[in-house]
Amino acid sequence: MTTSGVRAGQISGPVVPTSEARVAQRPLGVGDVTITGGLFGRWQRINREASMALGLRQMEEAGSLPNLRLAAGEGEGEFVGYRFQDSDLYKQLEAAAWEHAREPAPELARFIAESAEVLVRAQRADGYLNSHYQLVKPDKIYAELEYSHEHYCAGHLFQAAVAGARAGGDERLLAVAVRLADHLVEVFLRQGHPGIDGHAEVETALVELYRLTGTRPYLELAEKFVNDRGHGLVGDSGLGVHYLQDHLPVRQARTAVGHAVRQLYLDAGVVDVYLETGDESLLECSIRRWEDTVATKTYLTGGMGSRHSGESVGDRYELPSDRAYSETCASIAAVHWNWRLLLATGHARYADLIERILHNAFAASTSADGTRFFYVNPLQRRDDHLEGDYLGRRREWFACACCPPNIMRLVSSLGHYTATTGQDVLYVHQYAPGTIRAEPAGDRITLTTDTGYPWDGSVRFTVDQAGGGEWALALRIPGWSASARLTVAGEWVGAVPDERGYVVLRRAWREGDTVELTLDMTPRLVYPHRRIDAVRGCVAVERGPLVYCFEQIDQERGVELDDLALAPGATLRVLAEDELKGVGRTVRIEVDALAVAQPRAGGLPYFTGSSTEPVTAERVTATAIPYFQWDNRDGRAMRVWLPLT
Ligand SMILES: [Zn+2]
Repeated sequence: MTTSGVRAGQISGPVVPTSEARVAQRPLGVGDVTITGGLFGRWQRINREASMALGLRQMEEAGSLPNLRLAAGEGEGEFVGYRFQDSDLYKQLEAAAWEHAREPAPELARFIAESAEVLVRAQRADGYLNSHYQLVKPDKIYAELEYSHEHYCAGHLFQAAVAGARAGGDERLLAVAVRLADHLVEVFLRQGHPGIDGHAEVETALVELYRLTGTRPYLELAEKFVNDRGHGLVGDSGLGVHYLQDHLPVRQARTAVGHAVRQLYLDAGVVDVYLETGDESLLECSIRRWEDTVATKTYLTGGMGSRHSGESVGDRYELPSDRAYSETCASIAAVHWNWRLLLATGHARYADLIERILHNAFAASTSADGTRFFYVNPLQRRDDHLEGDYLGRRREWFACACCPPNIMRLVSSLGHYTATTGQDVLYVHQYAPGTIRAEPAGDRITLTTDTGYPWDGSVRFTVDQAGGGEWALALRIPGWSASARLTVAGEWVGAVPDERGYVVLRRAWREGDTVELTLDMTPRLVYPHRRIDAVRGCVAVERGPLVYCFEQIDQERGVELDDLALAPGATLRVLAEDELKGVGRTVRIEVDALAVAQPRAGGLPYFTGSSTEPVTAERVTATAIPYFQWDNRDGRAMRVWLPLT
């Protein structure tokens, strides 16, 4: 242990279960996965070159750092922004830490160091730290936890500090985090303050801080917060108890309800507490919620949370395309939850969902140039769309800016979500060109991955360093791939996945050995469960892990997007890989369609009898691009689902 309590030699990424944790798989360390290209590589490059600079600037302009300077007694002015304004800075710091670990940069080191100094000065002598409550409501500290976000902000500070320490960075941040965590332990564990934060998040963060420092009370506090929710202790924020997941104890709640991001962070914490305590009832209840939520409350894009009202999860099958909320933070929280379930169980279905979210709902949140972001990720937008005074296009920043720095912390740590080890197995979950370094059987091995994924389905691995003995390479066969072909050193081998969804290749590998996985990239039509009223009778297009969408700009001249329908017996045609202005590298898909023109009704837009107003149908070709690339050109209409004629 060092003076700050960090276990020496622990250089690793987000989520590092202790050696006693109940895990099926373990994450790799910082620098063990290097992504050199493909979509993940492009996103990391844009994140570094464009988004991070924007985020760092906003920490000053939007008030997060100035608020904390005021709390430190420096400068003049008033608190600006939301009561959770500090959390934006913490997420930005976490992003900077992972990014700096990936490739050091003086501006990132300076930002981390300067922010840490401000936080040291802003923190009270007793360890408390929250600029809003210190400046605006010092008499209400921990008195209105149902909406104060004090624990939520603390949690993001803990995650930033853990990232900084694991990435080998500034330890002053960790010292601030430890003092605040000790303060929480004193107030909520020792003195028995009964409150819980209305916004779950601190649970998973406390477990992470425990993992880093070995301070057991942090885990005990996380466990207490998880156990206490659902007993009416959160209080009434005015939005009801379901909104705050306080309607039922976590072991009894059967599905996701209320504010989507809170539910998903809570479940990440539930699984984290299971991993470190071994309380099986927590894993069981979380898996039960996962199964119901995925089966009935998840968009084709992997997005979760359908209601604008309360940013909440809707009823079962309430999944409208045009009114989809699908908050970007919900996608990120869902990745966190699924990653912990994957580590706990070793089941590829969680990696499948991570892939779907990353390539669709999450990827769509950022513009092709990395300078604009979606908070809300609908699956349809009409030409006359308005959200208040906004057109529903991506924006540079938001008054409530929870999403952009959250995007940056996930993109900068993307490599951590691609591979794991378990016993003598190296698992590869996500396919991206680059290198993987691991020690599945004690000896160091390295692999190079070459692939044009997800534009093509061929993934080639070369063993550069084979290690001493036998070990297994386990490759996820995505649920969407109807078939898979596999060769090892040019010889055909079976590609039937095991019960957990992986093909496991076990042998004494030699340097230079190659493995080639070929997934089925045939484009496919996807049909919704018929209880999803909003898209009943519609069809969508997918290819590989990508959901496709139709934008007005790509359609034939004179064809209105909202008149398109799939032609009977339609075939899908994949166009050659292309570089599209404003969008970047892409693969478009053409489909036989009908432009069904229906005149505007004279009165109400409804008709009696079996026939509607006369319609005309003209055969056309409709063109789709990957959903994540939408809204990078003229900002006109888009839709994922097309009606069947
Ligand atoms: Zn958000």
